[in-house]
Formats: sequence, C-alpha cells, structure tokens
Amino acid sequence: MPYAGRCSCGAIAVRIDGDPIAVRQCWCRRCQKIAAGGPTHNAIFRTGEIAVEGAMASDNYVADSGNVLTRWHCPQCATPMLAGSSARPEMRVVRLGILDAPHGLKPTMAIWTSEAPDWAIIDPAMQAFPAQPPAPPAPQSW
Ligand SMILES: [Zn+2]
Ligand SMILES: [Zn+2]
Repeated sequence: MPYAGRCSCGAIAVRIDGDPIAVRQCWCRRCQKIAAGGPTHNAIFRTGEIAVEGAMASDNYVADSGNVLTRWHCPQCATPMLAGSSARPEMRVVRLGILDAPHGLKPTMAIWTSEAPDWAIIDPAMQAFPAQPPAPPAPQSW
C-alpha cells in the first residue's frame, strides 16, 4: 500500500511504496525531547521504498549501542520526518505524524519503556521492551 506524507509546512513530502516492517513507540529520553514529552511514534520501512521531495536537514548522535543515529527534519518547520541507524542502512524510521490520515497504522510495540515518565500510560496490548528490542527480522526479499 502506498503511503504519502508531509511536514507541517509542506516543504518536504514523502511517498512510501511498501508496507511497514514494524510500527512502534519509543520512550527513550532523546525521543521525549523531540516529541515534547511523550514518545515518538515510528513506522519502520525499507529505505528503497521511501521517496522524499525537498531538502531535509539532519542531526546525528552516537547511541548507547555505538551506532550512529541520524534524524532528518524539515529545515523550515522542524517537523521530525525520518531516522535511521548506521547499523541498518536498509531500514528507515518514518515518523508516524507526517503520514496523511487515514493511514491505518498504529503502534504494536513500545520500546525504551524504562525511560518513560511515571505518568506514562502504555497500552498493555503492546509488546513492551525496557530498552532497545532485537532488530526486526529481515524479509526474504531483501
Ligand atoms: Zn516543513
Ligand atoms: Zn527513542
């Protein structure tokens, strides 16, 4: 199923021709900073299925794992767009908030719950990991 999305100001647009490998929320402290206190909501897609129109800005940092995490955002309105790990260039995180509704996606996994604030309400129906979960299995088509 194709998905389309854009940043808040519309300068950056994305189109995704594929289905997500996973949809999850992340409660790590770095995500809380870009998500204004809550978790980020992220759909993981194959990098080759994502087309971006417009020039994104990025920043990066070294995660606890030693991998470099890159985060892309709109340089005009600062909407978080994509993220990726140096360990898995074949995958990209798409921030769920940029997708045009209705897209039908919802998180089924919560990660880094050990860093969630004590007021966080985490749906018990979601699979939860206190820190980084194992990487999603690679489909055979990769
Ligand atoms: Zn923008
Ligand atoms: Zn996070």
